[in-house]
Amino acid sequence: MAGYRCHIADRQISHLRFVLKLHLIRSYDACKFFGSATVPPKNFIRRLILAIIAIYSRNMVKTALITGITGQDGYYLSQLLLAQGYRVIGLVPPDRQANVAKLGSLAAKIQICAVDLTDSTALLQVVEKLQPQEIYNLAAPSFVPDSWNDPLGTLDLITGTATRLLTAVRQVGLATRFYQASSSEMFGDVDRSPQDEETPFRPMNPYGAAKLHAHWTMVHQRQRYGLFACSGILYNHESPLRPPAFVTRKVTLAAASIKLGLRDTLEMGNLDAKRDWGYAGDYVEVMWQMLQAKEPQDYVIGTGQLHSVMDLVKIAFECMGLDWTRYVVVNPKLFRPDEHFQLLANPTKAKSNLGWEPKVSFEVLIEKMVLKDLERLKTGSIAPAIS
Ligand code: NAP
Repeated sequence: MAGYRCHIADRQISHLRFVLKLHLIRSYDACKFFGSATVPPKNFIRRLILAIIAIYSRNMVKTALITGITGQDGYYLSQLLLAQGYRVIGLVPPDRQANVAKLGSLAAKIQICAVDLTDSTALLQVVEKLQPQEIYNLAAPSFVPDSWNDPLGTLDLITGTATRLLTAVRQVGLATRFYQASSSEMFGDVDRSPQDEETPFRPMNPYGAAKLHAHWTMVHQRQRYGLFACSGILYNHESPLRPPAFVTRKVTLAAASIKLGLRDTLEMGNLDAKRDWGYAGDYVEVMWQMLQAKEPQDYVIGTGQLHSVMDLVKIAFECMGLDWTRYVVVNPKLFRPDEHFQLLANPTKAKSNLGWEPKVSFEVLIEKMVLKDLERLKTGSIAPAIS
């Protein structure tokens, strides 16, 4: 396979380190015993060990498999892993290959493996052949309202893919580390706010229920078979790559379109609805951190701050130098029936165990998104037409 280089598992590296130390310490002791005048100083030995390990490490490329690589998080995660020297392989179903183009120039730096995520045997063969050190299971129909149209398909993709991949790792007998993309939608109809890792789950839609099933499947496999598997319970995270169906992008695209005179108004639902919104680039970092930790654990990931849709609208329009009250029209028909106001993360565990904190503020995030939409509209790379 192109770009395939020597793979040394973590176990082999520790073994190598142990053997090297043993040999060097023995020769050091022997030198001392025979009173050799050329006893090397101890820090010289340490440096030598590190140099040899560095030479081996240079030849070691970790392989990461990513499902959902063509999505928002897949893009940022691939970027992060490539920068760290990983060999990144996206598992993309044959009928979705065209969407690899969404990755732009990044597509040339990764490998794509065409595989049906509902095919257990095919996934087993892929895992066996590619022997990944890490798997990030991100594939999901992530626009929550759509899950009502196909609850069973949603369940099969989300829970099915997690189950099939974990089973493959176990059957092949690998020490692969597994990340499951869980969601704050699993908390659903919350009875307390903010939520942490101990908060009970009460999902309110098929998407949340499917994510919860996948989460428990992962927990069971970890408990029963000792797999290194973690779940990141992530709150809403956005970027210029969010599809326009999501409210943040709907607003940023509209603000940029109005600025350019391409449309006159923006129709919105409940402006008082609140969310814990973060930046996707920050959130993929913690996915990776979870898989580098000593122990596999689950983490609630969010900013711990709520912002209203009105805040979002105000910031987006202000970035364009516009007064939002002149353009935004509230349409009660757009209110969501399962609207909840209390989904707010308590990310204390991630901060204390992993040292993770979001870096990009809500204001900076929205500004990034509006400016990108303005640039896209000016260059004609997207159409302004959304309602
Ligand atoms: P996204 O941009 O919607 O990407 C979803 C990915 O899943 C895409 O690669 C998409 O492929 C793939 N996918 C969708 N339906 C599929 C199907 N039937 N078969 C195979 N692949 C399919 O989502 P994201 O924002 O990157 O989120 C990544 C993961 O985190 C998802 O599991 C999501 O549920 C979860 N999550 C996201 C958030 C958030 O706020 N972003 C919060 C909590 C959890 P195509 O490109 O071909 O459509």
